[in-house]
Amino acid sequence: MTLLIRHGTIVTATDLYRGDVFVDGEKIASIGTSLDLPADRVIDATGKYVLPGGVDVHTHLDMPFGGTTSADDFESGTIAAACGGTTTIVDFAIQYRGQTLHHAWETWAGKAEGKAAIDYGFHMIITDLSDQVEQEMDALVRQGISSFKLFMAYPGVFMLDDATIFRALLRTGKNGGTICMHAENGGVIDVLVKKALAEGKTAPKYHALTRPARAEAEATHRAIALAEMADVPIYLVHLSASEALDMVAQARDRGLPAFAETCPQYLFLSEENYDEPGFAGAKYVMSPPLRAKRTQADLWRGLAFNDLQAISTDHCPFCMKEQKILGEGDFSKIPNGAPGIETRMSLVYDGGVRTGRIPLNRFVELTSTSPARIFGLFPRKGTIAPGSDADIVVFDPEKTVRLAAKSLHMKVDYNPYEGRTVTGATEIVISRGRVIVEGGRFTGRAGAGAFLKRSAR
Ligand SMILES: [Zn+2]
Repeated sequence: MTLLIRHGTIVTATDLYRGDVFVDGEKIASIGTSLDLPADRVIDATGKYVLPGGVDVHTHLDMPFGGTTSADDFESGTIAAACGGTTTIVDFAIQYRGQTLHHAWETWAGKAEGKAAIDYGFHMIITDLSDQVEQEMDALVRQGISSFKLFMAYPGVFMLDDATIFRALLRTGKNGGTICMHAENGGVIDVLVKKALAEGKTAPKYHALTRPARAEAEATHRAIALAEMADVPIYLVHLSASEALDMVAQARDRGLPAFAETCPQYLFLSEENYDEPGFAGAKYVMSPPLRAKRTQADLWRGLAFNDLQAISTDHCPFCMKEQKILGEGDFSKIPNGAPGIETRMSLVYDGGVRTGRIPLNRFVELTSTSPARIFGLFPRKGTIAPGSDADIVVFDPEKTVRLAAKSLHMKVDYNPYEGRTVTGATEIVISRGRVIVEGGRFTGRAGAGAFLKRSAR
């Protein structure tokens, strides 16, 4: 099967030019101006951008949390991702206490196999680091799971102490893995939550009020300091607060390999959303929580000046009906998370590129190239170049879409951006040479996505 995409504007993290892309099988075979090659299918991309498929390195599909499971499984979640222009995800497998990492991998592989419509990798969440598990980390890195997520929050469930975190960091200095950190001070948050509940403060907004920005900044600073002492890089997930961004910026100014991502929800929503009537604030209960509106400008500046290197989604949807409602009367029982896997590219294009906050190349870099690089997928993923996987998005910069839960593909009964209009939308999506989205419709196949063996640093 061959494919010729003609007359588009090809955009990578570094280049922008008019050209044609020729796809042979699963790979990009050549790029040129006026390529005159016979192809099984010709796509006219006049007036459109030809982008590398989006890479979303933070998703939680089919994930158990607080007695329920995130609403999208690997089928609905990856179909939604594809419809939004994302062709690669890296999801999180969870090692529960007493389990081996391999057991966790098997469990999550079972969730994805036969279901994923796009290619996927896994980070491994470590909750129990015995000597044997440390050795297993090395094996996982060799087998393509080259990053590990640790938590400084959720005591009694996911949280690790500093000594354990430090041991894991040291280990990545030997095996070439990367530690991803959920940086919030879980101990402090726990005390604040108990205090609020004892005072009868049970509404969704208290989720945010008990997770202060300083708790994120403190943990961010501590995570970076531990990584500095271990002499290894570190990647901070879902950075949400200006105070935490300051910590990353200061570290980078000192030349430390500290990396961080933020998410669209922190760029487009704010703590004011928690004041929506009744229980509606529960839609935005996620950790870290939404912050003050002024934070948004700081995060955009961080993205523009490379103190933040990636935009991922932390897609972790729970329906209001039957799921979020578990926390009616106690905000601490509201499942944490919100949908976003499908809306990332359009939101960031509309709110970032069209407003002039970031250039078009930077948009590609933040949503595809840089996460692919950091997590060992580049140049197979994250760019348009001969030899790279033919993961390509034909993007219409003029198309306007009204975001609504009803018309999106995510299996969740609300959308945090309901009614918002965005300009710039995915038109055709190609995954390893196959057209899987066309005219807003998914035309691919569940199970066609492959597990990605990612390289070490
Ligand atoms: Zn997450």
